[in-house]
Amino acid sequence: MMSEPESMNHERLENDSEVPGSSREMNRAPPVIPFRDPTGSLHAMKWESHRQTGRTALIPDRYYGLWPDGFVFYELDEITSETVLETRTIEPLIQEAMEEFENYTCIRFLKRNGNPNINNYLFIRGDAIGCWSYMGMNELGPQDLSIEMGQCDRKGIIMHELMHSLGFYHEHVRFDRDEYVKVHWENISPGREEEFYAVTLNDSQDLGVEYSFESIMHPELTVFTGNGRLTLEPIGEWAGTDPGPLWAKGRLAPSDIVQIDRLYECSDDGSSTRS
Ligand SMILES: [Zn+2]
Repeated sequence: MMSEPESMNHERLENDSEVPGSSREMNRAPPVIPFRDPTGSLHAMKWESHRQTGRTALIPDRYYGLWPDGFVFYELDEITSETVLETRTIEPLIQEAMEEFENYTCIRFLKRNGNPNINNYLFIRGDAIGCWSYMGMNELGPQDLSIEMGQCDRKGIIMHELMHSLGFYHEHVRFDRDEYVKVHWENISPGREEEFYAVTLNDSQDLGVEYSFESIMHPELTVFTGNGRLTLEPIGEWAGTDPGPLWAKGRLAPSDIVQIDRLYECSDDGSSTRS
């Protein structure tokens, strides 16, 4: 079992591993902390103005926030020679995944290169178990993002974990998801039920974008299954829709792009005004 995240505040950890019992998640209910808005009322008003339909992104608090100006710093695993080699091997894949964000949004991924003045960054590691990331930017220091070699080293999965780190929940836990999917609680692997608790109107924010099966944040329909059967079943006009597995997705959905643009307040010149 992995033990790495134990030392960190993992209220915001998103673990996408399918291994039963491997969850290090994730107390869904966030601590009651005063709304943190470093830029004051202007942004508070902007948050308000997006409160319309689907809620998909975290509300910044004193522990987890957004990346200032959309700049996401990162380091690749350098703990052991073995994992260095493996992480280096997939570095081009990691960069491909990052380019999907850079080509369509104002998010920019920058190598930290050991710069001691940069305290908030992703530490992308290949030696832990599972595919997981924290939600948003850890205000207190560096944060791990796990790409387990042989399990998670696919572009779509890396994109998915990166989008968690930008501050996005899984699509199927949106507050309005019951209009789109039926959750088959009886098929969920025991102990993973909390992966299906919808986020409430109070602990996530609305970016005015409809639910999307194409989203890089929408898992496959058997996600966290305990018996091989569907845990999510598209209903109504979406019946029969199959979002497919994350690893087969290599692009951001149009809805993902809009949501990132809104969360990070991307401007037309390609920069973020989110501070
Ligand atoms: Zn996930």
